[in-house]
Amino acid sequence: MELTAPRSQLAAAVLAVPGFVVLLALAGDAIGTSVERTIIVFLISLTAIAAMGLYSGNSGILSFGHLSFMGIGAYAAALLTLPAQIKGATLPALPEWLAVIELGLLPATLTAVILTMTVAGLVGLAIWRLDGSAATISTLALLIITHGILIGWRDVTRGAQTFFGVPRDTTIWVAAAGCVISLVVARLYRDSACGLRLRAGRENAIAAAAIGISVPRERFIAFVLSAGLMALSGALIAHFLGAFSPKKFYFTDTFFLLAMLIVGGMTTVTGAVLGAVVVTLLTELLRRLEGGLDLGFVEIPQVFGTTQIGIGMLILLALMRRPEGLAGLREWEEWLIPPRRTAVDPKPLSPAESDPLDAISLTKRFGGVVATEEVSVTVTPGEIVGLIGPNGSGKTTLLNQLSGVLRPSEGAITKGGKDLVHLPPHKFVDAGIARTFQNIRLFPTLSVYQNVQAAALATKGGRDAGARVAAALERLGLSGVTETMAGNLSYGDQRRVEIARALVCQPSLIFLDEPAAGMNREETDALMEILRKLNSDLGIGILLVDHDLGLINALCHRIIVLNEGKLIAEGSPEEVRRNPAVIEAYLGTSKKETR
Ligand code: ADP
Ligand code: MG
Repeated sequence: MELTAPRSQLAAAVLAVPGFVVLLALAGDAIGTSVERTIIVFLISLTAIAAMGLYSGNSGILSFGHLSFMGIGAYAAALLTLPAQIKGATLPALPEWLAVIELGLLPATLTAVILTMTVAGLVGLAIWRLDGSAATISTLALLIITHGILIGWRDVTRGAQTFFGVPRDTTIWVAAAGCVISLVVARLYRDSACGLRLRAGRENAIAAAAIGISVPRERFIAFVLSAGLMALSGALIAHFLGAFSPKKFYFTDTFFLLAMLIVGGMTTVTGAVLGAVVVTLLTELLRRLEGGLDLGFVEIPQVFGTTQIGIGMLILLALMRRPEGLAGLREWEEWLIPPRRTAVDPKPLSPAESDPLDAISLTKRFGGVVATEEVSVTVTPGEIVGLIGPNGSGKTTLLNQLSGVLRPSEGAITKGGKDLVHLPPHKFVDAGIARTFQNIRLFPTLSVYQNVQAAALATKGGRDAGARVAAALERLGLSGVTETMAGNLSYGDQRRVEIARALVCQPSLIFLDEPAAGMNREETDALMEILRKLNSDLGIGILLVDHDLGLINALCHRIIVLNEGKLIAEGSPEEVRRNPAVIEAYLGTSKKETR
């Protein structure tokens, strides 16, 4: 697994986990009885919450379905450890091989984890393309379906009846071990190449695709991995309780785990731990109040559901006052330990190939609007092409088609003879095409470094990612702000981060949609100098949209003019400037109006 964060931070994070868990376990072991039970349940909850955070936190998709995986893990592991004698008495209809099998906790847990990951893989294949609320609702459906199966499959699960007789092998130390595994996997995943790519997708799916990230694929990996850890927590709880029924893995526990995730903050492992602590403490407190309380001067009556009501209010409070959760957006060690990245020599960012891009007769319709109409253009690496036209003339729509963000209604796009039209957007970058967006699309809660790093890790040549990131940051003059959150930068800086992110993909063509918007004169001039150098030093072709005709004339070898979706002129700056159609489009004296 390739790790993307500074070693000092990850080492601190990974070492702190067993420290924290062992301290808790020691305390529970020493105090014993009811406190020990509470701590075991806490450790198992933490195992589950880290697993849920791994998926929901990094993908940004809240999951209501993860308790299904806990349930599958619990039943699967319990079926394997349950003494054959008890199986004979309570589950007479079990298949022969399952009836006689009697495994220890460890092999049973491992088997349950693998089985659950397989199930999650199959589920993931069905839902991996779903986005946002559709994805969340699909996980809700999963919870309900799994619950139905657990209740319906009586021969194996005893249906709604209690499944009992499971050996109580989950001691406080077993729970601690499971918890350490889950927390460490979740923490390392977050800063692995996969985790960073998924977080980029969470922040902006379109931009992530534009730098070569297959967001569905990354989601799928996280989904299966987190299901495995959920199964681990299920096996632990099954062998702690000894007896349980399907409702243990349904809405009530989903609610409590989601509360932990939301209150603590789901984007970090620190948040998972904080949320688990706060919700567990509050639950314990409220449970004591549930039976009523006599304060001497006033008597609080018994109220059923005090715990749920209290936790519900806590969620509301958290959402209103601290929507990103108690822990915020960074891990504790990211706050405390300054990220010192080992210096690397920048690697020259030469494009891998130099095939021209040919677009033939691109037409894009939005309902009745024809945004581009039979536009044919060729862009060759090595040249700087200006794309101009009045507002709404189809410039952005053309770039979106050329970079795979939009599929043309009609027309063909090829590069070096290779057909691109039918490729998914994240494959365009493999063909040497990178871009920036008119309405900036950064990964705002990731650092400048991580914005560029995510792109470097998503494209070919991921090996020397560090050297490429350094080179891209240096070229765009961003070496001084690498650890700033991208969303906190000025517009001008944000636009330069977008260009660095595109550049690190080693494209042969870069499309820039109004890169100077929001920049002052000096910034614009500096940017133009950078672009000129990219072109002359590296031979990168640039397709540039801008409204500043002086700038376009000074920089571009060739200019393309769109008006009302049609290509109305193409040629050298000189030719275009004298073209009557262009003058007409720009001066706004269209025939319709003068007539
Ligand atoms: P430009 O970048 O030159 O200002 P655009 O490409 O953004 O122009 O827009 C071209 C035309 O297509 C406009 O009329 C715009 O309203 C329309 N358009 C662009 N995107 C969409 C969309 N997603 N849905 C509907 N209409 C769109
Ligand atoms: Mg535009």
